[in-house]
Amino acid sequence: NRPLAELDPEVSQAIDKELGRQRATLEMIASENFAPRAVLEAQGSVLTNKYAEGYPGRRYYGGCEHVDVVEDLARERAKSLFGAEHANVQPHSGAQANAAVMMALMQPGDTLMGLSLAHGGHLTHGMKLNVSGKLYNIAAYEVDPETGRLDMDRVREVALEAKPKVIVAGWSAYPREQDFERFREIADEVGAYLWVDMAHFAGLVAAGIHANPVPHAHVVTSTVHKTLAGPRSGVILCTEELRKKIDSAVFPGQQGGPLMHVIAGKAVAFKIAASEEFKDRQKRTVEGSQILADRLTADDVAEHGISVLSGGTDVHLVLVDLRHSELDGKQAEDILHEVGITVNRNAVPNDPRPPMVTSGLRIGTPALATRGFGREEFAEVADIIAEALKPGVDVDALRARVEKLAEQFPLYEGLEEW
Ligand code: PLP
Repeated sequence: NRPLAELDPEVSQAIDKELGRQRATLEMIASENFAPRAVLEAQGSVLTNKYAEGYPGRRYYGGCEHVDVVEDLARERAKSLFGAEHANVQPHSGAQANAAVMMALMQPGDTLMGLSLAHGGHLTHGMKLNVSGKLYNIAAYEVDPETGRLDMDRVREVALEAKPKVIVAGWSAYPREQDFERFREIADEVGAYLWVDMAHFAGLVAAGIHANPVPHAHVVTSTVHKTLAGPRSGVILCTEELRKKIDSAVFPGQQGGPLMHVIAGKAVAFKIAASEEFKDRQKRTVEGSQILADRLTADDVAEHGISVLSGGTDVHLVLVDLRHSELDGKQAEDILHEVGITVNRNAVPNDPRPPMVTSGLRIGTPALATRGFGREEFAEVADIIAEALKPGVDVDALRARVEKLAEQFPLYEGLEEW
């Protein structure tokens, strides 16, 4: 029972350094966040020791009376947060939640229709190297090249032609709300299931500032660690009618023993997501990305060929379009890294540059909103990013501005003593 630092200094030091990195830099990867102390405590608890195959009240192992309480809390809180009839909180990740949904609703060879990866979809929506692309026939829809937005008439045309068994709405890199009602009409017209993957925007839905897909979709999946700020994991919401299919596709279909310590973290995260503080944080998240979009469409940036896809954002991220800029996605990511801001390069629709370089940046505000940023700080960050992307950048001056913000908003204070 020796402490980690004593027993395994190599792992311990790497963790300490990662904490230092998170504290000293500004985290703007759109899919990342900072899990609160209570979630970290639940994840680091003795629940990691427990096998609990099955579901509450119907386990294949003894001694599950306490983990049953935890899983029931997580399920009930998820249902109430999103207004769902049933919740499965066992998926280890977003990808496993998605694989289970496909397994529940399709047979190998059936057609899945999803947003193309190159246009903002996720690799689990049909990329050819993913299990989705290997087991199922894929029909992809795309964004309109002019507007950068989905054209629902075009989505309908693809559906009429492909006659999919399942249509997935949801994305990893798309800055606008999707029209779930229209998606459902199209799904009904072609006799498909509608599955919404709200992994990115689930926190905004929980806060009531984004359309809720649950009333429209047969099944909704999400990760819990992005805007929801919980433990790294997945969740599935569905109608009572699909409950049996979904539950058996997760266990025993895709997984063995559930990660009960992570499920405890999910229960905590869903509790926090129902709070006023969480709502306020999600509002600051969207305000922040809109401030960023405004700054990155100003003349001094536009004159260097930089713009923002779809001209703005409704959500927690901005997609910077560098197709007409000398700067490519990799260079832009590297400059921001030097300045102390972490983002990821991202392909944009019809990207002329190769996937390891790209012509885009995906910049998100959830982690900084969790850190406490409001309008004023987001305006300062937006200005730092705008300056960093223009030629002749003064890295040291920008780095000093980043350091000041990081110091103003300390992260995980006193964590060493917890
Ligand atoms: N679905 C969407 C829309 C995502 O953006 C992601 C992750 O980026 C996932 C699913 C997969 O989640 P995970 O990384 O937990 O497997």
